[in-house]
Amino acid sequence: MDLRELYQEVILDHGKNPRNHRFPEPYNREGRGYNPLCGDKITLRLQLEGDTITDIGFIGEGCAISQASCSTMTEALKGKTLAEAEEMFGKFHKMLTVDDDSEPDLDALGKLAVFAGVREFPMRVKCATLGWHTLNQALRNERGEATTE
Ligand code: ZN
Repeated sequence: MDLRELYQEVILDHGKNPRNHRFPEPYNREGRGYNPLCGDKITLRLQLEGDTITDIGFIGEGCAISQASCSTMTEALKGKTLAEAEEMFGKFHKMLTVDDDSEPDLDALGKLAVFAGVREFPMRVKCATLGWHTLNQALRNERGEATTE
């Protein structure tokens, strides 16, 4: 199966049945994200213990790409340290925004690599990165909304 087929499958699967689609209890970080271009909204909550994300969940509405991206992100991040999360975001963001034809780092990104196809659609990049921007905001523990603008 190539990355394009896998992309379709992941978007459909996670868009319809998002993982961790609930608020963790307890939680000590929260971020809210909004993508005005598409209308995607996400509220992300996580429990940070020391340096480790022990639980994470979100409630959101919007297009399948935004919800599927946030769903795969929560799956990838549970149990990870902040440094690992940051590194993953760096790779994910680079994959979507750096204009070269290099293959995504499948080993490091796993399922997240399927979003490489979104790179060709700049409007969609904002949908795919909304969850991650919201994560950054939650980790900085800032109030207010993260937007993709
Ligand atoms: Zn969207």
